Amino acid sequence: HMSLQRTPMRELSQDVAERIAAGEVVERPASVVKELIENALDAGAHEIRIELRGAGLRMIRVIDDGYGILEGELEEACLHHTTSKISAFEDLDHLRTLGFRGEALASIAKVAEVTILSRAIETAGQEEEQPGHWITLRGGELIQRGRRARLPGTTVTVNDLFYNVPARLKFMRGARTENGHVLQLLQRYALGYPAIRFSLLVDERTLLQTSGSGELVLTLAELYRLPLTEMIEEIDVRDAEGHYHIYGALGNRVLAQSGRQYITLFVNGRWVQVRFLQEALERGYRTLLPRGKHPLLVLHLDVPPAEVDANVHPGKIEVRLAEEDKIVAALTQAVRSVLERSPASPEPIDFP
Ligand code: ADP
Ligand code: MG
Repeated sequence: HMSLQRTPMRELSQDVAERIAAGEVVERPASVVKELIENALDAGAHEIRIELRGAGLRMIRVIDDGYGILEGELEEACLHHTTSKISAFEDLDHLRTLGFRGEALASIAKVAEVTILSRAIETAGQEEEQPGHWITLRGGELIQRGRRARLPGTTVTVNDLFYNVPARLKFMRGARTENGHVLQLLQRYALGYPAIRFSLLVDERTLLQTSGSGELVLTLAELYRLPLTEMIEEIDVRDAEGHYHIYGALGNRVLAQSGRQYITLFVNGRWVQVRFLQEALERGYRTLLPRGKHPLLVLHLDVPPAEVDANVHPGKIEVRLAEEDKIVAALTQAVRSVLERSPASPEPIDFP
């Protein structure tokens, strides 16, 4: 056993502290993509295009047609704790956006080279020659800026992710794994937001494309290339007191799969992975599906913003809920009652 000696207390430099903190938000390329997609959704985008190169380590690019960032706010957007989404702590009680920490762009820019090109919607009528503006930061430092033509919206390009965090780079898995994480993430968001046109281009190949029709069942068919209409049931339940609205779609027993990756849950529009909610869903289907099988399930849980705490984890994938017992019971019941109606099948279909 190594002998440990007391070393003096010291305050970490801002650079070191920020690089450590960035690790909590930016775990891998897919977490960068998640933050950038959420920003695009918060900006009211109708179309979101994602491009990856070299497993997302060489390049991640997210292009949206949202309301854009004003020239004067571009640099600020990349600072820590700067956000246009809340101003007081109490604002969390009526949060309507996915973002609120003002940490994502700053964290990503700390551990990569980031270029943000944007044009705010306010300039839409102006006949300037180059109405877009861009800045490039590397390791959190501004290194260049300029102007360029662009339609309203924002393009964020992330190059050389983790170039200054060698320990994190070492933990990256192969391109197949990292690209796979991004593809799964995109599938989840495409299902959660069927009215948005999503596309994912990985090393010049289109891996996913949705039409933004607004139809969840059609989006499922687009993603999985299966004639699913007959095999999907819609869910829509709300309680009289307004504590919850549960809606989405559930595949019938024929579509039961061996993995849990086809179960996606959104709480107030945010994709979450919360143990107690996943268990609530599982109690709903366990006795109705073969052992070890899981359904295709896309479910939204909307609750009043004051009754959810998303400020549990920097990645915001966890939440706490008031009225937890009621909601848990309602989730279990919603899943069970739909599955009970669907016929059991001896011939399950495996997804591609
Ligand atoms: P947060 O989303 O928590 O506010 P971010 O660091 O993700 O923090 O973004 C900082 C700010 O930059 C946002 O509050 C928003 O004003 C602006 N922003 C970031 N991405 C976009 C985008 N794609 N379109 C418009 N504004 C954006
Ligand atoms: Mg954000």
